[in-house]
Amino acid sequence: MKITITKTTTPNVMPPEEKLGFGKVFTDHMFIMDYEEGKGWYDARIVPFGNISLHPASTVLHYGAEIFEGLKAYRRSDGGVQLFRPMENIRRMNNSAERMSLPLLDEKDALEILETFVRLEERFVPKSFGTSLYLRPFMFGNDEALGVHAVKRATFMLIASPSGSYYAEGINPVKIMIESEDVRTVRGGTGYAKCGGNYAASTRAGERAAKKGYSQVLWLDGVERKYIEEVGAMNVMFKIDGEIITPMLTGSILPGITRKSCIEVLKTMGYTVTERLLSVDELVQAMEAGKLEEAWGCGTAAVVSPIGKLAYGDKEYEIGGGKIGEVTQKLYDILTGIQWGKVEDTFGWVHKL
Ligand SMILES: *Cc1c(COP(=O)(O)O)cnc(C)c1O
Repeated sequence: MKITITKTTTPNVMPPEEKLGFGKVFTDHMFIMDYEEGKGWYDARIVPFGNISLHPASTVLHYGAEIFEGLKAYRRSDGGVQLFRPMENIRRMNNSAERMSLPLLDEKDALEILETFVRLEERFVPKSFGTSLYLRPFMFGNDEALGVHAVKRATFMLIASPSGSYYAEGINPVKIMIESEDVRTVRGGTGYAKCGGNYAASTRAGERAAKKGYSQVLWLDGVERKYIEEVGAMNVMFKIDGEIITPMLTGSILPGITRKSCIEVLKTMGYTVTERLLSVDELVQAMEAGKLEEAWGCGTAAVVSPIGKLAYGDKEYEIGGGKIGEVTQKLYDILTGIQWGKVEDTFGWVHKL
């Protein structure tokens, strides 16, 4: 595909790596292309990073037609840069687009956009283990009219942010509260799509949990408030009595690429991984019986995030003595090892640039 590149005349200074937070500083450029029904995607361009201008009636501002993805560019110890399973993000973005009646991307073009952009911004891929260049592709409906319907115009963009290590302070298990009031999404809804609206609707529960001293909520299903779905904006896994259990993808759960990768790694490690409905009652029983050995969230940002305490109603349970469990640690070591190019990738997951 043809991508026009207009380079910045005022390049940014890359902040010191130890000062990088998450998603606060951006690279010099951004990618944009536009879509119109009948015409398809057009005017693919990389331009200096900056504000964009929108018509006040733009669909995204009124009806929330927005989807996004999140992936990282990793610096290997030999100095090269690589992505991790980028086609998975591209396919998931198209699944999200289909759900939200937004236009689909050509898979090959989308990969070329990622590659071209990361090569151009290579100097922003930090070097220390755990740091990365976070890539944020997103798409929004951009009709300049207030009628509610599938959009005829859309914009796709890619921005990137050099980000620090999620575990700059070491891996500390988090305290999680089981949420029994708000739900993240419902079956038949948009849970499997990475769309902005899901996050706008879920921050209230997160804020309330934070006020009580918990770092996130464990979501229950939106129909019966009975089955466990996700933790914050991560998928969740449990080790109960030697078996690894993760909620099955019912449509209201985001199909995480880290989740999928954890399952594949665990299987090669010889563990049985069961994807099924797991009720909160069953989990509480396991905790009461001392059979919940490990619990962790998984997602691109943290890779894995061990859960040290879980609160339900007015009871609080400690998991694994509040320390990171053996399986959680192994998953972290293998996945980060592959991502940062320290461990041989026997799965064919890395995509070198
Ligand atoms: C992005 C996301 C995840 C994790 O997906 P990864 O592909 O592993 O990063 C899980 N749950 C929600 C709600 C998400 O938005």
